[in-house]
Amino acid sequence: MLTREDMLLVKLMEECGEVIQVCSKALRFGLTHLHPKSGNIPNRELISREFMDVCHVANMLEDEGVIPDYWVDPEIAKARIEKYLAVSQDLNRMAKEEPTLNCPNCPNQGWYPEYGHSGEPVQIQCEYCNMEPNSVYNRGRVA
Ligand SMILES: [Zn+2]
Repeated sequence: MLTREDMLLVKLMEECGEVIQVCSKALRFGLTHLHPKSGNIPNRELISREFMDVCHVANMLEDEGVIPDYWVDPEIAKARIEKYLAVSQDLNRMAKEEPTLNCPNCPNQGWYPEYGHSGEPVQIQCEYCNMEPNSVYNRGRVA
């Protein structure tokens, strides 16, 4: 028979697994891809939701004294992660980050309206958004 403490640890494992799964889907299909089985929610939001579940279980474990209330200054934690990312770049295991580019033709949405003879707008696919690999549209994030 498992204790409440054991069950919370199992729940933490499960939630971490869900973060792993949705990060994998984001790498395979993209951060903005909408998965029909998850209610057409973009992968980026699913990552955020699953990660919040991890945080909530961790908070419960802290509140119940199972794990210590360990707090690290976010700036220190971020600097440590950036240091390891730089090592990966130095070892040529990670691409150098190029700047994300705003579209000169549309509001980074991949299309713009064009008005024909009838005056009705026609949706035109934006070539810049679709062809520029570093466009906001293709990267699925804000510049
Ligand atoms: Zn565009």
